[in-house]
Amino acid sequence: MGLIVQKFGGTSVGSPERIMNAAQRVIEEKERGNDIVVVVSAMGKTTDHLVSLAGEISSKPSKREMDMLLTTGEQVTISLLTMALQAQGFDAISYTGWQAGIQTEHIHGNARITGIDSEKIKNQLQKGKIAVVAGFQGFADGSEITTLGRGGSDTTAVALAAALQADKCDIYTDVTGVFTTDPRLVKTARKLDGISYDEMLELANLGAGVLHPRAVEFAKNYGVPLEVRSSLESESGTLIEEETMMEQNLVVRGIAFEDQVSRVTVCGLPNNLLSLSTIFKTLASHGLNVDIIIQSSTDSNTASLSFSVKTGDVAETVDVLEMHQSELGFEKIESENGLSKVSIVGSGMVSNPGVAAEMFHVLAQEGIEVKMVSTSEIKVSTVIGHDDMVKAVEALHDAFELSKQPAPAV
Ligand code: ADP
Ligand code: ASP
Ligand code: MG
Repeated sequence: MGLIVQKFGGTSVGSPERIMNAAQRVIEEKERGNDIVVVVSAMGKTTDHLVSLAGEISSKPSKREMDMLLTTGEQVTISLLTMALQAQGFDAISYTGWQAGIQTEHIHGNARITGIDSEKIKNQLQKGKIAVVAGFQGFADGSEITTLGRGGSDTTAVALAAALQADKCDIYTDVTGVFTTDPRLVKTARKLDGISYDEMLELANLGAGVLHPRAVEFAKNYGVPLEVRSSLESESGTLIEEETMMEQNLVVRGIAFEDQVSRVTVCGLPNNLLSLSTIFKTLASHGLNVDIIIQSSTDSNTASLSFSVKTGDVAETVDVLEMHQSELGFEKIESENGLSKVSIVGSGMVSNPGVAAEMFHVLAQEGIEVKMVSTSEIKVSTVIGHDDMVKAVEALHDAFELSKQPAPAV
């Protein structure tokens, strides 16, 4: 007997039938003698529909009102799932993020959880009830409703698991686990039995949408054992934990990719110590995030600087820099859209210096131009043309033999 947090994503609660199926999953765990907290997303594509509905009313809706709107999605699911459990004779109660005590920063649209007052849920569990909590939402400053960023229900689940010291957090979704790459793109992608927190964090940060990056961060920081598994099939999923004993010797564990990447190049920048920091401070003060950065000296007086940003941020990035052109002192700005980022991730890379070289070799053989590169101990990321993205992922998946089941570690 233990405490389990179960999270069901949008597809897994996308219809009344799916909600009944999720209820069945909850009941199975409850009947094994566990205490259960359930976290749910909005049904199906509800959040996307609400976003486009807002777009029909206003081209720039306020972030506060967007949070008021989007949090209604999860509120529908908590009540329906609770009704489904009650209809099966189980004592269950639903809570919004606020009622569940999920406190966040006062930032609308992408708030971080700052604390959880879990007394109410603990009391209900003690009474034998199943607590059903709305994912993706919290509250700030006593009464302001906030959201955690798209895909944030995973983070609600893991944060609750950490706060309640749950034995386990199960993420039920529409795939059977974490694969070597997105199985919807690469048919030969293979389900992993296990993956380390660090590798999963890199994959999630680099675009593998299967888990919200902050959920993995919480799981790692609080040592919450996570399992990603299917809500429809009963096979076991992928365990995410401190160290994976399986497949330990793998250099590359997975491939992540991200679309809608752009490159901005600032030409003729004064070649002095302060110009870099001034540029990035200016961008940061407008909330603009920069990813890969490359600087090169053109001559002793001038330098050029390239960085990647999300395509949605390009126009604002260029506007902000041009607004400050006289103080920043650069000559001109160029931007290129239609790029993607493809990354290989694996903790075995630390001790294998040839991995980046192998990646570039594979891409060169496919005739793919690499426009930007960034590396860390356990990943290599490349920015390439969007039209080459699928080809690159498939070629790398093949070259690093990711569909082949590796021999178990001894
Ligand atoms: P949910 O609504 O359950 O939160 P998501 O759509 O957020 O589901 O995440 C599941 C999706 O993540 C899958 O349908 C799959 O297309 C995508 N995905 C991307 N990379 C991976 C990966 N490496 N392994 C498994 N799924 C992945
Ligand atoms: N419903 C939210 C979204 O679609 C949160 C989630 O599903 O995790 O982004
Ligand atoms: Mg998700």
